[in-house]
Amino acid sequence: MRGRSLPFAEISRIVGQENTVCSPEDLACYSYDASKISSLPEVVVFPGNTAEVSELLKLANRERLPVFPRGAGTGMVGAAVPGNGGMVMVLTRFNRILEIDPDNMIAVVEPGVITGELQKSLSPHGLFYPPDPASLAFSTIGGNVAMCAGGPRAVKYGVTRDYVLGLTVVLPTGSVLRTGTRTVKGVVGYDLTRLMVGSEGTLGVFTEIILRLIPTPESARTLMAVFPLLEDAARAVSQIIRQRIVPSTIEIMDRSAIRAVENYLHMGLPTEVEALLLIEVDGRPVVLDEDANRIAEICLDLGASKVETARSETEREQLWQARRAVSPALGRIKPGKINEDITVPRTRIPALIRAIGNLAVKYDLIIVCFGHAGDGNIHTNIMLDKKNRDELKRAEMAVEELFRTVLDLGGTLSGEHGVGIAKSPFMQWEVGDEGLEAMGRIKKALDPLNILNPGKMFTPNRAFFRA
Ligand SMILES: Cc1cc2nc3c(=O)[nH]c(=O)nc-3n(C[C@H](O)[C@H](O)[C@H](O)COP(=O)(O)OP(=O)(O)OC[C@H]3O[C@@H](n4cnc5c(N)ncnc54)[C@H](O)[C@@H]3O)c2cc1C
Repeated sequence: MRGRSLPFAEISRIVGQENTVCSPEDLACYSYDASKISSLPEVVVFPGNTAEVSELLKLANRERLPVFPRGAGTGMVGAAVPGNGGMVMVLTRFNRILEIDPDNMIAVVEPGVITGELQKSLSPHGLFYPPDPASLAFSTIGGNVAMCAGGPRAVKYGVTRDYVLGLTVVLPTGSVLRTGTRTVKGVVGYDLTRLMVGSEGTLGVFTEIILRLIPTPESARTLMAVFPLLEDAARAVSQIIRQRIVPSTIEIMDRSAIRAVENYLHMGLPTEVEALLLIEVDGRPVVLDEDANRIAEICLDLGASKVETARSETEREQLWQARRAVSPALGRIKPGKINEDITVPRTRIPALIRAIGNLAVKYDLIIVCFGHAGDGNIHTNIMLDKKNRDELKRAEMAVEELFRTVLDLGGTLSGEHGVGIAKSPFMQWEVGDEGLEAMGRIKKALDPLNILNPGKMFTPNRAFFRA
């Protein structure tokens, strides 16, 4: 609570004066994340080891001081944003890869390691850490674990939770817990590792992470298929997987996304069609050509008007260019957007995209859909000018109706970005009263004074719409 007197001297003693900041300029830098929700902390600290994190949390309990763990601050739902003052605990000094063990195919890392840097370090060992959030060049492994990040490769390789074997966690009360094992198998006791993954900084602060690795795929083939009809594109996605080919990525762009990119890059995309699929298969070269040919046949049989296959790395890059350009292209449509990462069973994608089209008409909004068709995770972008109160109100109503539709289709409100502040008003819709209560009891058991990352998940908060 603002107005309290902070024990600055004690905080500085724990982490060092050089790792404690509280000037207005510094506090402003740690007041927001990529959601643009913001609130000033009272102090920002940069601990350097597990013992310091533990001491800080013990002090926070004594002083009833809220603590907000933070990685790179790239979260999309305000999960790292402080509330009502408090201490932001930045974990970026924990930036060492402690061990790469090629024989047991594991890596032990500190949470502040940048995801893409880890992936580069593994490459000379022929090892692969598959989770590929689009933010991997700047987000941290700790943030990825806390949010259970995923990306286009999830359709074949899964998400962050599938690669976390164990954790060193400082619990909200300051005690240090070690979860999991260094082995792929391990079934002793409750799976506390899984409980921690995706806990959004509310159950503990990770200071060491044991990751499972796999061999790097030898090669890849990339195809782009053009579908005049959206339903045909969606049928092709299911049919490819039913034919026992599991691509590493199947990305979709709807007509509004295709048009946005074409207006931005002028690369000759077909703006009259309803969908583009970008499909990649990876693995041993001997089977890849066969898989790519089979995928092309399936797409053409099911109504694709054209399928292009990249024959070189340059051509592969060209095919990906359209997909990568979607986000920057959107900036030309409106100054702001509400980006939802709803997810439905892949067979329900056509129903979802049709429903979104109806919402766009009903609420007079521009809504652009693209994303990971292989796992049903469709990024739905409501384009708007947040200063236009009327447009904002219509967008707010469209989001609520969208969420109801997603749940009716058997989906989830978030495939990647999490709950944080932005989705907290809606969490109960998905998990129900019982789910919310069970999670609240776990939180209370581990954090009796509600010190760690309060105001997230459980506290409905509509700040999102005002951000
Ligand atoms: C351009 C862009 C693209 C993105 N694309 C994707 C995507 O494809 N897929 C995806 O899943 N997400 C994506 N994101 C969202 C974001 O990058 C992820 O949620 C990422 O995992 C956040 O990592 P971070 O280091 O920035 O964490 P922060 O934003 O700093 O924190 C996120 C949460 O993690 C907690 N936390 C951080 N470190 C720790 C720790 N050591 N111990 C305990 N809790 C901790 C924080 O308290 C907070 O609750 C994207 C974001 C941007 C800006």
